[in-house]
Amino acid sequence: MSIRKVAVMGNPVLRQVAKPIPPKEILTPKVQELLQDMVDTMFEYDGRGLAAPQIHESLQALVMIWDFEPEKKPTLLFLINPEIKVLGDEKSSFWEGCLSVPGLRGKVSRPNKIQVTALNQKAEKIEFVAEGFAATVIQHECDHLQGKLYVDKIENMKDFTFNREYSKFIAQESLNGEIDDQAGEE
Ligand code: ZN
Repeated sequence: MSIRKVAVMGNPVLRQVAKPIPPKEILTPKVQELLQDMVDTMFEYDGRGLAAPQIHESLQALVMIWDFEPEKKPTLLFLINPEIKVLGDEKSSFWEGCLSVPGLRGKVSRPNKIQVTALNQKAEKIEFVAEGFAATVIQHECDHLQGKLYVDKIENMKDFTFNREYSKFIAQESLNGEIDDQAGEE
């Protein structure tokens, strides 16, 4: 296990379409080590999710923290070669952050409900429906596998801010109920 260097915006690896991992390679030490390095790096940088291209590996794998219960060891979700199908027309907006775009945060609107099909870290096929914030995290991470960043999807550049200013001006308003969004770092 090791903590890897995170690629930041401007690095071409973040703009490449990542290659699928052949299912029979998932259980090999090489891929298992990559997945563990992704976990170690995500925790080191306090992320909620991490995609392989963010540690300079242009492969279709991502990890995210699946539940956020305080004082419990987080449950991790691994998605390899994921596919997303949008369910319904409803959208949700969240203030997103990204370890590859450090110090900044932006408001992005995405489909609220999705169906996800992928392989997990044991090479088993998984299929489930995600909604709300979890659906946003998955879509943010899956975008990394397509060479996209959340900043590409900010509709109004007024909704792009430094973290400090977000905490000072926007999160405060949120607490007062004026803005309905939650913050998240992916
Ligand atoms: Zn990201």
